[in-house]
Amino acid sequence: MTVFICCFCIATVMVLFLWSISVALREGVYQIKRLHQIPCSDCEFFTNDYRLKCTVRPCVACTEDAIGCTDFEPKTCFANSCQQHFYRVYKPYAEIPTTNPSVPPLATGIRS
Ligand code: SF4
Repeated sequence: MTVFICCFCIATVMVLFLWSISVALREGVYQIKRLHQIPCSDCEFFTNDYRLKCTVRPCVACTEDAIGCTDFEPKTCFANSCQQHFYRVYKPYAEIPTTNPSVPPLATGIRS
């Protein structure tokens, strides 16, 4: 009789464990699907800058409240979030020479 009770308890614990895993997975999938409905990454007003995520609704951007945002505009190639890669194409300002070596310096009359 004791063996039967132990087996029953183990089976009950296993069923509850598997049930809780399935509930957690279902909730995780639901939450992921919900987060993928946030349209900000495809919006024209999204800046891709953590300091100001959106120029229209900064407090709502990238949250669940942004789902169904009435100010959503599809992103174009001129959007701020698309401009990031141009910084890599151009040299940083520190590397750009400030003087033109082909032009001789002006004669100042000061001799060194
Ligand atoms: S306007 Fe709306 S959809 Fe667009 S980035 Fe701002 S909050 Fe997101």
